[in-house]
Amino acid sequence: MSTVVYLNGERVDYENARISVEDRGFQFGDGIYEVVRVYDRRFFYLDRHLARMKKGAGEIYLNLDFGIDNLERLCRQAVKESGFKDASVYIQVTRGAYPRQHAFPPESSCTWVIIVREALAQPREYYENGVTGITVPDERWSRCNIKTIQLLANSIAKEKAKKAGAYEAIFHRGGCITEASSSNVFIVRDKKLLTHPANNFILHGITRRVVLEIAEKSHIDYSEEVFSLEDLFEAEEVFVSGTMTEIMPLVKIDGKIIGDGVPGEITRSIMNSYELLAKTVDQ
Ligand code: PMP
Repeated sequence: MSTVVYLNGERVDYENARISVEDRGFQFGDGIYEVVRVYDRRFFYLDRHLARMKKGAGEIYLNLDFGIDNLERLCRQAVKESGFKDASVYIQVTRGAYPRQHAFPPESSCTWVIIVREALAQPREYYENGVTGITVPDERWSRCNIKTIQLLANSIAKEKAKKAGAYEAIFHRGGCITEASSSNVFIVRDKKLLTHPANNFILHGITRRVVLEIAEKSHIDYSEEVFSLEDLFEAEEVFVSGTMTEIMPLVKIDGKIIGDGVPGEITRSIMNSYELLAKTVDQ
């Protein structure tokens, strides 16, 4: 069992995988990516991740010249070849290599990479006891719905969280909570689940959508609406969602205890439903 890398459709050794110094991903952050989770050899909504990638490519005028079906086929093949039961599949596509210029190259073919790694579960106690967060100003551009590889603001935010001994950094823009450095944010207020609307200020998380589907099925009241920093601190429950994060309860933010200081009832119910889905979804 080993990490598997496909570069431009060819299987390559991890150590020998090389891209050009002129690659626009390297020079301009000109590309998009996805991270997909595999549970017990089953893909967890690969179809939705590929659909988001296709949409994101359209937003940045990137022609996926290798074909999305080809990408899907190779993702499945790479997971099989890795031998890992639980894996993360990292997919990155850039506008390719061309002598450096800001405007798009008149001709270039995409650089596309698939990396399959073993996915190690996060510590059980994180989910059981909850984790902590900090808040930071959202200093990103205003097209956060595109999953671009330009993650510097997210990296700086996550580093701040790490330095503070926290799990995640929650972004606020103009006093409103948008999302977090690598996850979407949910709060429970008056027993109602709230999350930022799926507009240009957040990534439309696949897990976020799954949470809303769970809420719908479980008759949990929910709304996609903007909420404030104050609402966050006064929430009964807070959790974040993401492909690798899954559903993670936050029990302390900026040193302030959230609700009872333990993962709340609605959060636990959603976590349980999510765990069941992870055992069944095969798409
Ligand atoms: N927001 C941001 C900024 C992220 O980086 C991620 C994870 N890639 C998410 C939200 C969660 O998205 P998903 O559920 O699709 O993994």
